[in-house]
Amino acid sequence: MELYDVTRDELQGILSQLKEALFNHQQWHAALIRVLACQLPSDQHDISPQAHQECRFGQWYYGKVPEKLRVLPGFIALGEAHKHMHQLAAQLLVEAKTGNPVIAFDYDNFANALDRTRLEIAALERELKNLLYNHDALTGAITRVGILPTLREQQELIKRELQSCCIAMMDLDRFKDVNDQYGHLAGDYVLAATAHHIIENLRPYDKVFRYGGEEFLLFIQHTELTPCFEMVERLCAGLAAMPIDFGGKKPVTITASFGVTLLDPDTPVETSIDRADKALYAAKAAGRNCVRVWNSAMQAPASEAS
Ligand code: GH3
Ligand code: MG
Ligand code: MG
Repeated sequence: MELYDVTRDELQGILSQLKEALFNHQQWHAALIRVLACQLPSDQHDISPQAHQECRFGQWYYGKVPEKLRVLPGFIALGEAHKHMHQLAAQLLVEAKTGNPVIAFDYDNFANALDRTRLEIAALERELKNLLYNHDALTGAITRVGILPTLREQQELIKRELQSCCIAMMDLDRFKDVNDQYGHLAGDYVLAATAHHIIENLRPYDKVFRYGGEEFLLFIQHTELTPCFEMVERLCAGLAAMPIDFGGKKPVTITASFGVTLLDPDTPVETSIDRADKALYAAKAAGRNCVRVWNSAMQAPASEAS
């Protein structure tokens, strides 16, 4: 799941709401412990089956959150952990009402559920911060600084023969013409729509990095070269067939060229990137809007060759 259509402002807003929600929950927890320890009357809301919706965290979770966030697995898991914790808290309060001490086993269950909820909050916060700080604002792709560490980490898995991976370098065709003809803002729109198409049509565990202006590096996991080539060909054809309505007189279409190679376990990852780049150059030379797989006869672009 990608949240590329959530704006940075929205993300920042969600993060500060999450922080506030956590603070409110800590206050709720302190009040709960006070009720249990001092045998005070409990708040009826805390015993209600809807306690998880009525606490201030629940009001935020079930109320004010953008729809796009609701489908994130981390967000769903947090809701389940929080609800479970409230059920256990209600059980403790009902037990305490009888005047008998709370059973240690029940308290431990509650404490574990509380820890789990806090862990889920921290995980969601981390995921949102990752989206905010490691993703390119225009396209939603991961920023370039993440490429080398990601590829090196995966290369270790490939060396252990746990998986094989491919990379594809992608560059929009004649993109300068789009800017020249329709203006830079329309160009931005087309660029973002293209990146979203690629992100949406790859599998959730594949990654799209913005390598440069209108150039992207696709990291395609658990895939041999031939299925990867076929997958990238489908992306290429899908993009060429996609009308992009940037608000001009009529929608435009754009194509891209792709260079594919295996992430080689035995050479530096920079070499694999360079190979994908040479294959991309071959795709451009072959007329654009196509995919080429690297082979050792491929040459670097003339400007790079010495
Ligand atoms: P080719 O098929 O050979 O790749 O042709 P091209 O026109 O795409 O290639 P070229 O490298 O000559 O031009 C790329 C253009 O992409 C130039 C630059 O202004 C534009 N560009 C890069 N980043 C952005 C961006 O973020 N927004 C917009 N609107 N344009 C961008
Ligand atoms: Mg280009
Ligand atoms: Mg380019």
